[in-house]
Amino acid sequence: MNDTLRMTNRMLVPVLLAVALVAGFLVWGGRRAFTKAERTVIRESDSVMYVTTVDADSLVLRTPSVDLTPAELKSKDLRTLMAKMLATVRSPQQDGVGIAAPQVGIDKRVIWVQRFDKEGGPFECYLNPHIDSLFGEVGKGPEGCLSVPPMRGLVPRRTGVIVSYIHPETLEPKRDTVTGYTAVIFQHECDHLDGRLYIDRADTVFVSPSWEAERRAFDYTRPDWWPQQ
Ligand SMILES: [Zn+2]
Repeated sequence: MNDTLRMTNRMLVPVLLAVALVAGFLVWGGRRAFTKAERTVIRESDSVMYVTTVDADSLVLRTPSVDLTPAELKSKDLRTLMAKMLATVRSPQQDGVGIAAPQVGIDKRVIWVQRFDKEGGPFECYLNPHIDSLFGEVGKGPEGCLSVPPMRGLVPRRTGVIVSYIHPETLEPKRDTVTGYTAVIFQHECDHLDGRLYIDRADTVFVSPSWEAERRAFDYTRPDWWPQQ
């Protein structure tokens, strides 16, 4: 009897340790938000962020992005990232109609899209967006990309998308049907999240003479503190 009790006691410590380790890992894992390198980019960047380019930053642009974790969705860092991405795409230096997180060095599923299909063309943010389906005809239209200066290309795209995402304010899952030019922007930005660029899909790609004229000179030099890729 005593032997059995001693044996049980001896086993209790490792069992309790294992339980504590698993619980600790779960709690820690649940709270983990962004990698150290990502936090550095989010926190150290100016409000107008350094925009990655296909020549200098192909790894971050070509790596498929992952969904934000529940902890990341609720984090202050995500709010900072969203605000800085918006300031970047709307800046006179860039003057874009959409931006995806890999374009500022973060391989997470966050995009901003200018909703030309809505009154006033507001910019809207989409978290963990996924294109569920494409519909409509295939049309060819000109596209450019902040990350592919100073090029433009003719890209075949479908005229409609159904996209599911997490609403940035309520954090509830949503689904939206979008058509026209805005649907093209959704396809372009969601491509970024899959590590794909418009030049992969374009029929023709050419140097755009208007690229420089359309935006103020932008310094594409990576900041000194930028984490090593
Ligand atoms: Zn782009």
